[in-house]
Amino acid sequence: MTDTLADSRTSSRSFSEGVPLVVEDVPRRSTTERTRLLEDPGFGRYFTDSMFVARYRTGEGWYDARLTAYGPLQMDPSAATLHYAQSIFEGLKAYAQPDGTVATFRPESNAARFTRSAARLAMPPVPEAAFLTAVDALVDADRDWVPTGPDQTLYLRPYEMAVEPFLGVRPADEYLFIVIASPAGAYFPRGVQPVTVYLSEDYIRAAPGGTGDVKCAGNYAASLLAQEQAIAAGCDQVVWLDAMEKRYVEEMGGMNLFFVLGSGADAELVTPELTGTLLPGITRDSLITVAREQGHPVTERKVSVDEWRSGVADGSITETFACGTAAVITPVGAVKARTGDFPVGTGEPGPLTMQLRTHLLDIQHGRVPDRHGWLHRVASAA
Ligand SMILES: *Cc1c(COP(=O)(O)O)cnc(C)c1O
Repeated sequence: MTDTLADSRTSSRSFSEGVPLVVEDVPRRSTTERTRLLEDPGFGRYFTDSMFVARYRTGEGWYDARLTAYGPLQMDPSAATLHYAQSIFEGLKAYAQPDGTVATFRPESNAARFTRSAARLAMPPVPEAAFLTAVDALVDADRDWVPTGPDQTLYLRPYEMAVEPFLGVRPADEYLFIVIASPAGAYFPRGVQPVTVYLSEDYIRAAPGGTGDVKCAGNYAASLLAQEQAIAAGCDQVVWLDAMEKRYVEEMGGMNLFFVLGSGADAELVTPELTGTLLPGITRDSLITVAREQGHPVTERKVSVDEWRSGVADGSITETFACGTAAVITPVGAVKARTGDFPVGTGEPGPLTMQLRTHLLDIQHGRVPDRHGWLHRVASAA
């Protein structure tokens, strides 16, 4: 981030009403270097050449929107986010399409959720059109970084944080809105593997009236110890229960859960209802639509650990999977709990799990028609 206007131009787009989008000439890595990194990008390890940054000050609103070189930020050590976690984020992906264009998936839903997250953390909202402009501008500028290998994507991370230098506890008067981009490899490069999950009975993720239904940074900080506990117990992921009764299954790590009842064409799906302590996932919402379209009824209701355990035992629950933007769909293969371990399904990914996973990936990568207008083409700057 630099204050110099040298080598920059004001693009034809504006970030929001009266705020031009300034595009700087950024140093670019060579094609050789980029190709090398895109061969095996992993997740969240490498970042593209540019980033988007806009500033906010109370009274002034959003200002100084620019695409600038990816690099360290300078902020005051007393910046509010560093102390009180007034910070929110989003996660979405850009997909190379078969016709050579690039598309993001339901970015309007991320923009809307970002607005809700901002309201909960007493932060100024980024206008939804400005959020979309920022994401598009970054993807367009760093289009060469959208990988084209099987199931590879460009992961986008928009976030907003309080940067006012002040240690008093109140909503800050200064914020940054930033978007960074990171190429991501296929989540399961060696084939889809079911995960083993650990029921968190010591720690909770979210309580009624808390921040569980928004994407704020603090939710993740508070989840790390339970995730470590899960790993220490030989599991891959933590499963969160409701805070009040510790009876109902809510989420797996940072993903929503689905249960398959029955099998074949008559299989039905159940997913925990959005009680206010669950994060309303866009993948969850998309899968509800896709499953219904394929003739599988979907019910949103509470699911208890007892129902899960007995359903698996009597064969009524045949598959369980988790879903989110990063991994799309991850099958659950076994559960560990103080109250007794139990296997889920056959140990192989279930058929409906895989059918839904393939279908959603096919929509995102443009391999089947996009019947819901979920794909948003990223326009090229004129
Ligand atoms: C982001 C997130 C999800 C998944 O949401 P998507 O929009 O599908 O990526 C689920 N649970 C939590 C806690 C999350 O933070």
